[in-house]
Amino acid sequence: MARLVLKFGGTSVANVERIRNVARHVAREVKAGHQVAVVVSAMSGVTNTLVGYVQDAASTGNRDGHIFDQMEYDAVVASGEQVTSGLLAIVLQAMGIPARSFQGWQIPLTTDDAHGSARIMDIDGAKMIEVMSRGEVAVIAGFQGVGPTGRIATLGRGGSDTSAVAIAAAVNADRCDIYTDVDGVYTTDPRIVPKARRLEKVAFEEMLEMASLGAKVLQVRSVELAMVKKVRTFVRSSFDDPDTVGVDAHGNPPGTLICDEDEIVETQVVTGIAYSKDEAQISLRRVADKPGVAAAVFGALAEANINVDMIVQNTSADGSTTDLTFTVPAIDEARARSVLEAAQAEIGPTLIESSADVVKVSVIGIGMRSHAGVASQAFTALASKGINIRAITTSEIKISVLIDAAYTELAVRTLHTAYGLDKA
Ligand code: ADP
Ligand code: ASP
Ligand code: MG
Repeated sequence: MARLVLKFGGTSVANVERIRNVARHVAREVKAGHQVAVVVSAMSGVTNTLVGYVQDAASTGNRDGHIFDQMEYDAVVASGEQVTSGLLAIVLQAMGIPARSFQGWQIPLTTDDAHGSARIMDIDGAKMIEVMSRGEVAVIAGFQGVGPTGRIATLGRGGSDTSAVAIAAAVNADRCDIYTDVDGVYTTDPRIVPKARRLEKVAFEEMLEMASLGAKVLQVRSVELAMVKKVRTFVRSSFDDPDTVGVDAHGNPPGTLICDEDEIVETQVVTGIAYSKDEAQISLRRVADKPGVAAAVFGALAEANINVDMIVQNTSADGSTTDLTFTVPAIDEARARSVLEAAQAEIGPTLIESSADVVKVSVIGIGMRSHAGVASQAFTALASKGINIRAITTSEIKISVLIDAAYTELAVRTLHTAYGLDKA
C-alpha cells in the first residue's frame, strides 16, 4: 500500500463527464489498495471568467478595473475549486467510493497575507491522514488556503500544483501525481513544437528553471517545494484510459518523474527549451556613462517592487553617454516607465523606449555545467535564421536570449533541432 496525492488540472475536470473520467483514475488507485487524496483545479476557463467578473465589478463608475481589494478577489476566484471538489466527491460516492471534499480552511492550509498570490505557511496533515486511513478519499480544493486574518487566500495562477505538492509533503505521501492534458514534461511546449519529446526524468533544478522560464506545465512554487521537501512528483495525462494505463516493462505509466539529479543516469547537455512572452524590454538611450546611474535606475525600480531580469549596458564610445537595456515583467511596463520618468532628476537626461513585443527564449540543462560552447551553438543557430538577439543572460544551467516576439516559434524550433532534441 502506498499513500498518493493525485492532482487534476482544469482541462481534466472541464465538465462532469471528464470528472467521471478522473474518478475512474482515483478508483483504480483505491482498488489497488492505496490511500488517496485528490487535489482539483477549477473547471477550465472558470478561473479566467471569475477574474473577469472581478475586473468588471471593479470598473464601477470611472474606476480602473485592475485595481480591487485582493481579499475580495480571493473570495471570488477561490470558488471555482470549491465546485469541482464537491462534484468529484459526489461522483466518487455514486461509484461506491467513500469520499469527502475539503476547502483550504477545513484542512487547514494556512498562508501568509499576500492575498492573490499567497505563500503556504503550514498544512496540518493530521485530518487528511485520518480521512485516508479510514478508507475515504479526501478531495481537496486546490489553489486556496486561509490567511492570517481567517480569510480565504489564493496561491497565484496555476497554484493547484503547489497545493498538491504541499499536501503530499504534509501527509508524507509516497508520490504526487500531477495529471494534466499532456502525458509528461516535454523537451519544449508540445503545443508549439510537434517534434518535442517526452522526458522520462527531469532533475528538480532543471524543472525549476524550465518552469521559471515559461514552461507552464508546473507552477514554479510547486517545483521549489518538491525540491525542498523531496516530493517525488510525476507528471502524467488524465486522458490515458484509466483502466488500461499503468504498464510499461517496469509497470510504470507514461509520464515524467521530477526527481533528484542522482537518479538520472544519462544526462544530456541540453534538456529543454522554454519561452516566455511575459517580459517587456526597456531601453534608456544616451544615458550618462558615470558612476551612480545604474544604482539610480535599478534602485528606483526596486523601490517600486518591479523585478528586473536581463540587463545589457554597452561601454560608451565617447566616454560620456551609453545605452542601458533591461527587461521587466510585461504587466509592469507602464509602471516602470513612469517610475523612470519620475527618477529623471537622479538618472539624468535620457530617452526612455519600451516594447512588450519581445520574447525570452531559454535553453536549459544541468549538463551545461561541464560543457563548453553551448551558448555559441544557440547564437549560431539563431543567426542562421536571421534572428536578432536583443539581450542575453546566462547562468550555470541556462542561457536566455531576448528576441522579437514574431520569431518565437521559429526560434524555439530552431534551437530544439540545433541541440538534437527533435524526436526521431
Ligand atoms: P493544467 O490545467 O492541468 O494545470 P496547464 O495548462 O497548466 O495544465 O499545463 C499543461 C500545459 O503546459 C500543456 O498543455 C502544454 O501546452 C504546456 N507546456 C508548456 N511547456 C511544456 C513542457 N515543456 N512540457 C509539457 N507541457 C508544457
Ligand atoms: N484554477 C487556478 C488557475 O486557473 C489554479 C490552477 O488551476 O492551478 O490559475
Ligand atoms: Mg496548471
